Amino acid sequence: MQTQPTASHFINGAYVEDTEGTPIDVIYPATGAVIGRVHSATPAIIDHALNSARTAQAAWAAMTGTERGRILRRAADIMRERNHDLSVLETFDTGKPYQETSVADATSGADALEYFGGMAATLTGEHIQLGEDWVYTRREPLGVCVGIGAWNYPTQIASWKGAPALACGNTMVFKPSETTPLCALKVAEILHEAGAPAGVYNVVQGLGDVGAALVSDSRVDKVSLTGSVPTGRKVYAAAASEMKHVTMELGGKSPLIIFDDADLENAVSGAIMGNFYSSGQVCSNGTRVFVQSGIKEAFLARLAERLGKAVIGDPQDPETSFGPMVSESQMEIVQGYIAKGQDEGARLVTGGARLDRDGFYLEPTVFADVTDGMTIAREEIFGPVMAVLDFEDEAEVLARANDTEFGLAAGVFTRDLVRAHRVVAGFEAGTCFINSYNDAPVEAPFGGVKASGVGRENSKAAIEHYSQVKSVYVRMGDVEAPF
Ligand code: NAD
Repeated sequence: MQTQPTASHFINGAYVEDTEGTPIDVIYPATGAVIGRVHSATPAIIDHALNSARTAQAAWAAMTGTERGRILRRAADIMRERNHDLSVLETFDTGKPYQETSVADATSGADALEYFGGMAATLTGEHIQLGEDWVYTRREPLGVCVGIGAWNYPTQIASWKGAPALACGNTMVFKPSETTPLCALKVAEILHEAGAPAGVYNVVQGLGDVGAALVSDSRVDKVSLTGSVPTGRKVYAAAASEMKHVTMELGGKSPLIIFDDADLENAVSGAIMGNFYSSGQVCSNGTRVFVQSGIKEAFLARLAERLGKAVIGDPQDPETSFGPMVSESQMEIVQGYIAKGQDEGARLVTGGARLDRDGFYLEPTVFADVTDGMTIAREEIFGPVMAVLDFEDEAEVLARANDTEFGLAAGVFTRDLVRAHRVVAGFEAGTCFINSYNDAPVEAPFGGVKASGVGRENSKAAIEHYSQVKSVYVRMGDVEAPF
């Protein structure tokens, strides 16, 4: 497959290059080989992208929702038709196994395009009768939206931000992570092919400085970031200084609570899905696994057995179920946490080592006897490292589960459904799971509380974050005035 893109950026309906920008090598995580090169956006490129988005916005917003929606739905169809190629590219970009990318990336992007495409025609204001006078509201777009992505789900993030933004009549400039620059260009290409006018969806490459330049530009009305909490704090502050709208999808250290009465096999499956899918590089992962004492040894034994069945290898092989970390530096960060876990006295149950092969492979790693104060129980690792903590009763575990600055997700496994709903009601988290983990259908709101974020992606809730309501008072009679 050709992994070198036609050019670095996609602006105003065409590929654009400016080799003056800092070169960014695209590295295949499974081998460490350079498979492409793009250039960070120069001020001229940023200017071109923002001007194109600004210019295109009024005409795009003036189309009917049905017309805009038709284009998004056509893009969804194209994405599904090309799922194989897009999945192969996603695997080159991220190193995630094709077994995952073929069912979780372009397919999820297509779901967002289809869902918000379908919704575009239904977006309306309301009529409020006040005697003979009345108020009506207009649901209006925000204008130019900037999307900034993390490296774990490049196609999905570009689509989850683009689809609701465009459905509401906004235009977008999207900056992918510098670690995974390839896939968002395909989203732009597909939207253009589906009929999105030039300038409606643009992609520029770059490091954090390009993101920062976009966020602080006065032509931008809204910023949606998927990234870490430290970056989120900077972006939120920069956006606030100009009163821009924001959506912040940030990091987490989510709890997964397994009670004694849980179905063991399902609990182990949930813990695997919540820790080792995408080699653990998922924001909502349930990385603090609280296991009640009565089920603990059975849980650890079955978990180790099931992890032994992971097929670690070439991520392009459909049989492979566990791939490399996205980059050498991310692998080193995770290795640092594994060493800290051992230093601080956690018990290594399985894994912990780098694989003796090319690429950035770490073994799926499980620590038991983890205590609340340990670094691996407090900080987001963003890699295949599960921390298993012991607990005795519900009130205690809920307090400990919530004792974190993060609040992205949380899960509970139990056969006692009254308890499950009670625990979920007590979670300080935006996205919760009962007897499941990490499902993210487009129909359901997704996002965090506390330091994990602001706003929601997906579902009808996203419309609130990509549009604003104008209220119009209409007087039918004379105007009374005091003098
Ligand atoms: P990161 O914060 O390092 O970078 C995210 C993006 O922000 C990148 O595109 C980067 O270039 C850009 N950026 C960096 N500095 C910037 C600045 N000052 N101004 C504007 N943009 C800037 O995150 P990452 O390492 O790419 O991704 C991993 C993190 O993302 C983890 O914390 C993970 O939990 C989080 N994440 C969250 C979600 C979610 O939906 N909540 C999803 C995926 C990943």
